[in-house]
Amino acid sequence: MEVLYNSTRDNDIHVRASEAILKGLSEDGGLFVPDHIPALDKSLAELSAMNYQEVAYEVMKLYLTDFTPEELKGCIAKAYDEKFDTEVIAPLVCAGGAYYLELFHGATIAFKDMALSLLPHLMTVSAQKNKVKNEIVILTATSGDTGKAALAGFAGVEGTKIIVFYPKDGVSPIQERQMITQKGENTYVVGIHGNFDDAQTGVKKIFADKGLAEKMDRQGFQFSSANSINIGRLVPQIVYYVYAYGRLMAEGKIAEGDKIHVVVPTGNFGNILAAYYAKNMGLPVGKLICASNENKVLYDFFRTSVYDRNREFVLTSSPSMDILISSNLERLIYRIAGNDAGKNAELMKALAGEGKYRITEEMRKELGDFYGNYASGQETSEMIRALYENTGYVLDTHTAVAACVYRKYTEETGDRTPTVIASTASPFKFTRSVMNAIDEKYDKMSDFELVDELSSIANVAVPAAIEEIRTAPVLHDHVCGKEEMQKAVEEFLGLK
Ligand SMILES: *Cc1c(COP(=O)(O)O)cnc(C)c1O
Repeated sequence: MEVLYNSTRDNDIHVRASEAILKGLSEDGGLFVPDHIPALDKSLAELSAMNYQEVAYEVMKLYLTDFTPEELKGCIAKAYDEKFDTEVIAPLVCAGGAYYLELFHGATIAFKDMALSLLPHLMTVSAQKNKVKNEIVILTATSGDTGKAALAGFAGVEGTKIIVFYPKDGVSPIQERQMITQKGENTYVVGIHGNFDDAQTGVKKIFADKGLAEKMDRQGFQFSSANSINIGRLVPQIVYYVYAYGRLMAEGKIAEGDKIHVVVPTGNFGNILAAYYAKNMGLPVGKLICASNENKVLYDFFRTSVYDRNREFVLTSSPSMDILISSNLERLIYRIAGNDAGKNAELMKALAGEGKYRITEEMRKELGDFYGNYASGQETSEMIRALYENTGYVLDTHTAVAACVYRKYTEETGDRTPTVIASTASPFKFTRSVMNAIDEKYDKMSDFELVDELSSIANVAVPAAIEEIRTAPVLHDHVCGKEEMQKAVEEFLGLK
């Protein structure tokens, strides 16, 4: 059955999957959502016998209904190949009473690779389907992880160019090195004098400039977005929850139909929303445990029914979750409002205006499957150290937030249901915070000394993504003021 996509702010908009992927965001500012959530059409037993690529096909074919089987299989084969350092793509590791689903074995060692390895291919196929003649220009502002994952995904992909803006003094040294050493004729990386919000605002301004869009069109270009609100990023993320369930079955840890809980370290609410979609497709998921760091706007929301972004922004050791507006939550709000675009639009207007909104009692009843909690920086460090000392397994700071929240959940409930924790980054990506958590003596070492030390104490080889940047030449040294971003774009594209 065909799935069409409508806007969370307008039920009368209906576009096919390929159009939604090309557009990214609906013109009314809403997010594209499937008009119904399709049910899995293979049994769990059948799925448990499949490899990652096969599960990916079975899940995504149900959403991307205007892609032919050949097109979709072609995209999947190009995405999940030897860019991943393990054939299983997303290994499941048992440690300390939970199953860690390692989503960090791709090119940039964070979970963004799971979707961003695939999105460029979905996008080029979508462009062909919709007879787009222009070259697609991906424009991204990043606080660190998304930028590199998008660069790695789009580098060398024909018919695309990618431009990434990052805050010159606002990313970790390893994150910056990862970006400025990026290869590929079609890549462009610019540091700006300003913070992440400045970068984000600048990008939005460029997107909204109609005059620029016309000029681009005349010269054979058009913008698109690789941001996590693109449905082309959400759909690939549903896959690994189905896959993890299959692995647990295949290993005899659960029987077909048994419930599992899922814990997700959350920022923009994309990853946990994918788990929610998986559950609604028929995957036997019990609780969806939403883990926040000290920017605990979601924890407060689940507790009080009020979403309130009016608060201090805290810089934490899990920076990829430092977020006060969780964009993808809008898709959940739309659904618990009974797929009512008008109601959702009203709440989003309140969020844009007063910075907060309250959901109704009726809507709150639909949130029974969610459990929210948060972890402080101190608790996160203690979790990393304790798990390392007890099991030898080393978590990154984001995953450690999830592990803390899971511990709080089991302490409160005594619930021992088998649980999968989404492990969203390699500890090598946040080496300094991780090593300082294990022992303060490490603070004196340089970043690359810490990398070697981590490799030795955790008994894990240094990932290729880190090995590469030790010696890779710097290929991007553009720096500009926050007012000069558009000029940088025009220069890179050679616009006249
Ligand atoms: C992006 C990111 C998250 C947050 O994921 P959302 O889908 O935005 O909730 C968590 N951990 C890491 C390492 C990330 O890069």
